[in-house]
Amino acid sequence: MKIFNTLTHKVEEFVPNEAGKVSMYTCGPTVYHYAHIGNLRSYIMEDVLEKYMRYDGLDVKRVMNITDVGHLTSDGDTGDDKMLKGAKREHKTVMEIAKFYTDAFFSDCAKLNIKTPDVVAPATQCIDDFIKVISALIEKGYAYEAGGNIYFDTSKLKEYYVFHNFNEEDLEVGVREGVEEDSNKRNKADFVLWFTKSKFDDQELKWESPWGVGYPGWHIECSCISMKNLGEYLDIHCGGVDNIFPHHTNEIAQSEAYLGHKWCNYWFHVHHLNTNSGKMSKSKGEFLTVSLLEEKGYDPLVYRFFCLQSHYRKGLVFTWENLDNAKTAYDKLIFRIAQLTADGNKGEVDKQAFDQLKNSFKKAMDEDINTSNAITVLYDVLKADTNAATKLALIGDFDRVLSIGLIAAAEKLADEKTTADIPAEVMALAEERQAARKAKDFAKADELRDKIAALGYAVKETRQGTEITKL
Ligand code: AMP
Ligand code: ZN
Repeated sequence: MKIFNTLTHKVEEFVPNEAGKVSMYTCGPTVYHYAHIGNLRSYIMEDVLEKYMRYDGLDVKRVMNITDVGHLTSDGDTGDDKMLKGAKREHKTVMEIAKFYTDAFFSDCAKLNIKTPDVVAPATQCIDDFIKVISALIEKGYAYEAGGNIYFDTSKLKEYYVFHNFNEEDLEVGVREGVEEDSNKRNKADFVLWFTKSKFDDQELKWESPWGVGYPGWHIECSCISMKNLGEYLDIHCGGVDNIFPHHTNEIAQSEAYLGHKWCNYWFHVHHLNTNSGKMSKSKGEFLTVSLLEEKGYDPLVYRFFCLQSHYRKGLVFTWENLDNAKTAYDKLIFRIAQLTADGNKGEVDKQAFDQLKNSFKKAMDEDINTSNAITVLYDVLKADTNAATKLALIGDFDRVLSIGLIAAAEKLADEKTTADIPAEVMALAEERQAARKAKDFAKADELRDKIAALGYAVKETRQGTEITKL
């Protein structure tokens, strides 16, 4: 299996440290608000990566943090504490906010068929681990105290900007304009490991430490939670591209300074979900959630399908029209699978056909998790010259990775008996009619509706897609 490694800027063969086993770390959500569907694009694609590794026979252990302390509105250690901002907004305590939005996050994940990682660790439960690593960094001369805070000294490293050739766009979130300089820092790139002198007098969560009562910086939590649960050698670390700098750059700096050797071999970054006005982000105030999609009548799995139609290393533009197109395609797919499930004479699985198509699927996924090509293989299965049993076996097999609920949705549809008895001729006319409607050729669409009626069927558009019923 090959993946693009942000560290080397190359698509490389993925070779874990220990044959057959994978240690995988994912930056988790900052739980001060709902996850938006952009955040969830990252989690969907990481879920596909994890599931494909498992599908490929690898034994994956995946760890994710929950950021419930220390993440400021600028990733460069300035601005307000995001958790405190959330608590003020809702007149609740920080821990109430953390609990509410952690639950909301996992509820969204469940709706999107995103598997919960093997270990989920809230930062507030790992304070002792942070203190241990920060103390060691001070001892080794990589960290210093200034103005009451503890900073990582980036000048002590041979190379700090390890992901050097990232795009300007990727830097945008981390390095915002107009943030005030912290005069305690010896070097511009230095970052906070532990805050005691914070400008937030009302910082709710504080802990005793050798440097006074305070709280950890954001970056240290991922390094510590990863090392604690996955050991000194990490195979793969994931996140959105906005995490490349400064977050992941800082994680590497402090982890490798602490360990004294290379820490993580592969860095997997998902590109952003954008709207027509740029990156979807919470700070802009307007963002879309899974609940909003549901309110508008979309199955969350349609959004997952929409994400899978594009490669994770390309920016993806969200518009309602694009989502509608994904919905139409998804509904048709389910419709066609429902016809297979309803087929009384499914036959026996044809091993040769099965292996051949499975290989095509693996080939697509092996090429840097090319989900859009993998979906093309799914259509090839439907068109293949083989029986229903083989097709259904393949669809079920691919869906272990894609997780778009194909068999379950098709069985439900078949149960509703909406498709079972509809002749292929009527189906073809209905598809032609839909294409005419899309092209706004309503005269042709009406003509086709009449033809369908002449064959004894009624066709109409519903929120769930095209519905065909016997007259
Ligand atoms: P946060 O909760 O802000 O810490 O972000 C959670 C995850 O979502 C991180 O991996 C981010 O890199 C990622 N992310 C943030 N915005 C977007 C976006 N518009 N599209 C895709 N991923 C994003
Ligand atoms: Zn992280």
